[in-house]
Amino acid sequence: MNPLTLNQRLATDRFVTDESACHIVVDQELARSTGTAQRLIAVCPAGVYSLAADGSLAVEYAACLVCGACLAVADPGTLTWHYPAGGCGVQFREG
Ligand code: SF4
Repeated sequence: MNPLTLNQRLATDRFVTDESACHIVVDQELARSTGTAQRLIAVCPAGVYSLAADGSLAVEYAACLVCGACLAVADPGTLTWHYPAGGCGVQFREG
């Protein structure tokens, strides 16, 4: 039996999106001026962060794996992050 790949294991997880609130808020000016934006894009294993066409940092919070890596590399004040509301966010199955 072949073991599942990382992507196959992640695909078994369940995501419940909190449509009423984003649990990640970015201070766009600070993210740009401190270089935090590029670090967030590089570090997030779920690809939550990307550069939008207007140069701002887009946040696809529904894909967040709540690993906390972004908090470890963000300059102070750049991110406001809290866990998704109860019943929302990722529910791990395999990976
Ligand atoms: S907590 Fe992890 S998965 Fe979620 S946005 Fe931060 S780095 Fe990405």
